[in-house]
Amino acid sequence: MLDKIELYQGDITRLGVDAIVNAANRSLLGGGGVDGAIHRAAGPELLQECRTLGGCETGSAKITKAYRLPARFVIHAVGPIYSGSPQDPLRLAGCYRTSLRLALENDVASIAFPAISCGVYGYPIADAVQVALDATVEFLATHDAPARVVFALFSHQFFTLYQRALAVREEGRRK
Ligand code: ADP
Repeated sequence: MLDKIELYQGDITRLGVDAIVNAANRSLLGGGGVDGAIHRAAGPELLQECRTLGGCETGSAKITKAYRLPARFVIHAVGPIYSGSPQDPLRLAGCYRTSLRLALENDVASIAFPAISCGVYGYPIADAVQVALDATVEFLATHDAPARVVFALFSHQFFTLYQRALAVREEGRRK
């Protein structure tokens, strides 16, 4: 499973994968951070399509076309606003699971995730990376697609953290 996972440091909107995941809010009508970057790069048609979706529950996701982006689809996942409650990891895991299921249903072979909830929503990255990897590895272990999952980290700090977390898992697998 780990061999299907890759890391990328930089802007997720540049990636030529089949689908990129957006860290959206429940309205799905745009926001700051990665959401703003995706809408800017995709063009106004993306917001028009998002208006037809009627929002999205926290912990879930909805799929749209990607318009002017190199990707074919945008999967809009709504992460939890971090509160320290036991619901937080369940909802965050739900974002990854639902996004991967939508990818599978839409013949998406490659998908890229940002660090959902780890910006304005305040989720501690050290915990979020474990939730992201657990949910992804579990999904890949039980489904044939997607073939490639990229974690796109904007900062060098987050990139290094993901690298270490993956290295620990690789090490654990070899033992
Ligand atoms: P949330 O509201 O879910 O916390 P944010 O957009 O505030 O979402 O942040 C999520 C993560 O996305 C943060 O780690 C932020 O640094 C990162 N990010 C912001 N812009 C981009 C981008 N263009 N590509 C990849 N990651 C980005």
